[in-house]
Amino acid sequence: MNATPAGANAANICNSGYLSQGALRGARILQEYAPTESAPHMPELPEVETVRRGLAPVMEGQEFERVVLYRRDLRFALPDDFEARLHGVRVENLDRRAKYMLARLSTGDVLLMHLGMSGRFIVTKSTHSAVPGEFYHNGGEPSAAHVHVRFEMANGAVIEYADPRRFGIMDIIPRGGLSDHKLLASIGIEPLGNELSGSFLNSALRGRKIPLKAALLDQKIVAGIGNIYACEALFRAGISPRRAAHSITSHAGTTARAERLAIAIRDVLSDAIAAGGSTLRDYVNAEGELGYFQHAFQVYDRDGEPCAKPDCGGRVTRIVQSGRSTYFCPDCQR
Ligand SMILES: [Zn+2]
Repeated sequence: MNATPAGANAANICNSGYLSQGALRGARILQEYAPTESAPHMPELPEVETVRRGLAPVMEGQEFERVVLYRRDLRFALPDDFEARLHGVRVENLDRRAKYMLARLSTGDVLLMHLGMSGRFIVTKSTHSAVPGEFYHNGGEPSAAHVHVRFEMANGAVIEYADPRRFGIMDIIPRGGLSDHKLLASIGIEPLGNELSGSFLNSALRGRKIPLKAALLDQKIVAGIGNIYACEALFRAGISPRRAAHSITSHAGTTARAERLAIAIRDVLSDAIAAGGSTLRDYVNAEGELGYFQHAFQVYDRDGEPCAKPDCGGRVTRIVQSGRSTYFCPDCQR
């Protein structure tokens, strides 16, 4: 295995069957933006944001020089004119809404990308001066069985989207169509935006009899909170996941619990993104791997372990709610 992080990563991808040795010839893998292969969960918002931050430097300000589709369907069929609407078009910026990455294009269109369950982006770049032909493997054969989309950018970066389970999504949304798009029209507020507050949660959860944790997972209320960070936020706020959603609200406009929960949601996501960011930076120097930020979890997947709150003395407990694992400390989460 090569000593350089890029080489190590390339070998790793090779072993996992994602790219053949032939596919790697003449190309150097710069970075792979994906949850670790062993990760059993779909990417949550912090992981998507980390992927976005990894892709932004090679996409923003760059034109698509060539776009290749190895198949025309992921979770949904891609638009028939997908390649034509990207060819020669510049990415103005790479944005994110919930778990959707949104590349705003010079034409006014928006390229929407979602990682689904198993999607990943692999960035490779020619080791020589850019000779476009060297990227075409075996006369245009797919570079790997699971690579479905390939972007060749004007800066020489090649960005491949691999997705073994094909739950990922790519679409091109015409100018002005973003807020009406079927996937975006009904999603809730951004958990990291200014709208999330105790009073927002108070009004959104008023009268809701579903479990509080289920309400946090409802993407129509707050978009982008998944199972892991719902557990983490409730732990940090000291609120039981078994409470009914309405029980943290009042007619007064807000409650101490709603205020704590709004802060906790923001904090767990921000901390995870910061951890991902440091993973990203470290990767260049050491051989970190982009993935889930397990080291940041205080209750998730810690069934039976002592509660992380110093003066608690409780133990993390796992229960199942709506078919999903919930981890919490029964002693300090009330
Ligand atoms: Zn505790």
